[in-house]
Amino acid sequence: MEGRPLAERIRAQVADEVRELGEIGLATVQVGEDEASTIYLRLKHQAAAEVEITAVDRKLSHTISEDDLLAEVAALNADDAIDGILVQLPLPDHIDEARVIAAVEPVKDVDGFHPFNAGQLYLGRPTHVPATPLGVMALLAEHRIPLDGRRAVVVGRSNIVGKPVAHLLLQAHATVVICHSHTDDLARETLDADVLVVAAGLPGVVTADMVKSGSAVVDVGINRTESGIVGDVDPDAGSRAAFITPVPGGVGPMTIAMLLQNTVKAARYRRGLLAFPEKRR
Ligand code: NAP
Repeated sequence: MEGRPLAERIRAQVADEVRELGEIGLATVQVGEDEASTIYLRLKHQAAAEVEITAVDRKLSHTISEDDLLAEVAALNADDAIDGILVQLPLPDHIDEARVIAAVEPVKDVDGFHPFNAGQLYLGRPTHVPATPLGVMALLAEHRIPLDGRRAVVVGRSNIVGKPVAHLLLQAHATVVICHSHTDDLARETLDADVLVVAAGLPGVVTADMVKSGSAVVDVGINRTESGIVGDVDPDAGSRAAFITPVPGGVGPMTIAMLLQNTVKAARYRRGLLAFPEKRR
């Protein structure tokens, strides 16, 4: 399940929508100079420029105080030219990440990390959904992988990937099992999976003998090793799975495409073309 061709098609659709909607603004916020964050942000900005989304980059010192960072976010919330806001994680240790995420106006939260948007997903009334899980679902849909009634196993329970993808699979009527570092016997769970989504951040945590024959495997992992970028699933698993995503070139390109799609969605919400659910405090 190659991500690039589908991601390219989605980006072309986004470009058409941007032409139709007019000026769309995306703001990214980076605190400090984490190398991986800088690479991800560069890719996001390149992708935004290609579809003519106007992306602005707020690069802030790693010594910025939490209050000053919150003030930056508040200014972006108030800026009418900005439709989407993305605070690149991780933030330095002295900053309360949850507090910053909660400060982003939910309608502009194109990462889908705000508790309001996470709650909407939990309730099955999704607004902004995190981009990587959306990318996983789009890849499964593209390859017509049946989900209704099937057993889906998710390895990882982060708020960014594992939990939201489990909710989306549940909405698609899969029977969902979520595994994590306390799971007693990971292989017992994964061997039962018709659809296996792995987001653990551990190279080769899933080996070929842990994969059900004929299943669909989505490897979300991106691990920088001496031999280059590898996923969480041993590539030999491709001999047993009917479908498997490559790393790189699988979920990665999809994440960026879905982020652009979320930004257009935010613009639609903000222009009243889509109804954003009322936020009750
Ligand atoms: P994370 O926050 O570190 O979460 C990792 C999850 O894996 C945790 O829930 C952890 O369990 C679980 N885990 C760790 N060891 C395990 C084991 N031995 N068996 C089963 N579960 C185990 O990571 P994340 O942000 O979700 O990211 C996961 C991976 O996806 C990383 O490689 C990251 O780089 C990659 N990623 C890729 C994209 C993309 O666009 N392709 C986007 C986001 C992330 P506990 O909860 O018990 O600790």
